[in-house]
Amino acid sequence: MRVVFMRNDYEASLAKLIERYRRQIVLKEIGLEKQVKLSSSRIVIIGCGANGSSIAELLVRAGVGYIRLIDRDFVEEKDLHRVRLYTEKDSYRATPKALALAEKLREINSSATIEAVVDNVSGDNVLNYVKDVDLIIDGSDNLELRFLINEASVETGIPWIMMGVERWFGMVKFIKPGSTACLRCFMKEPSTRTINVCEVFGVVNIAPALTTSIGASLVLKYLLGLEVESDLIMVNGLKLTIDKIHVNRLNDCPVCVKKEYRFLGKPSGDINIYCGVDAIEIKPSKEQFINLEHAVEKLRNMNVKRIADNIVFLETSGLKIMLFTDGKMVIYGTIDVEQAKKIYSEIMMKLMD
Ligand SMILES: [Zn+2]
Repeated sequence: MRVVFMRNDYEASLAKLIERYRRQIVLKEIGLEKQVKLSSSRIVIIGCGANGSSIAELLVRAGVGYIRLIDRDFVEEKDLHRVRLYTEKDSYRATPKALALAEKLREINSSATIEAVVDNVSGDNVLNYVKDVDLIIDGSDNLELRFLINEASVETGIPWIMMGVERWFGMVKFIKPGSTACLRCFMKEPSTRTINVCEVFGVVNIAPALTTSIGASLVLKYLLGLEVESDLIMVNGLKLTIDKIHVNRLNDCPVCVKKEYRFLGKPSGDINIYCGVDAIEIKPSKEQFINLEHAVEKLRNMNVKRIADNIVFLETSGLKIMLFTDGKMVIYGTIDVEQAKKIYSEIMMKLMD
């Protein structure tokens, strides 16, 4: 009897899948078998800003079965002009981007498994986040993070899609270790000075829209087992042109040939500056557990609210702060380390009162 039940159950879910994706399944490049393959595919999107959010929507609608979303920031009003899916309510509530996006994706496709992680991806945690997926997607706006993803991809052998946008322009590349040029084959690593400059460029929302449509095409082709071009694809949203540039592998590439990693494995410090968003992350010097119910009570004069199981949000001195159960704090609106350290100590003192 059990076998009959499982068979009926399987047939019912297959019938549902055929109904939902019939206009994809009818395509000769897809068909039922590959649509089922998509539903068992696993991806991670690192960064849930304009690129991450937009490509996530396309992929969850197309039927990708498992999506892990990682982002360290919350939704702000200044994001809304270019970041798809987020709303004024998300910015008013200061919802972490990964959680806001996960909620929207689950509403779009309840069959997909969506995992949301609020964290800063760094040299000492990136492998944990990428090791069990089929493809890594770069949704970051951060050059150092792209080089870290590149090294993690080479180390694990898992391919990745690089995407970058600026003003009206975007670039996309599929990178498969051992087969295509890696990021380091055609781009020099940023200098320490560049990493610390934290430049912010303007961007029009059509740049991520165009760029992520191309990125999603590469993702789907890879997951469907179709041929994927490895050219660097440049899209110009002002002139409305798309150019493909072939890039060769470097014979002596320090990353994909020599496996000399500059970012992977590098421990993140106790104090980290987040580029582009003017924020400082401070970790406790020893392991901690913060009872957040207790924290909400103790910090009640600081507009405190619980925004996730492991995070409370609060405001003090005109700055917005995320406090995590492990004692980590991210202080937004400043890159003044001394000011951030002072605020960290003050809040910790209040919690110990
Ligand atoms: Zn290389």
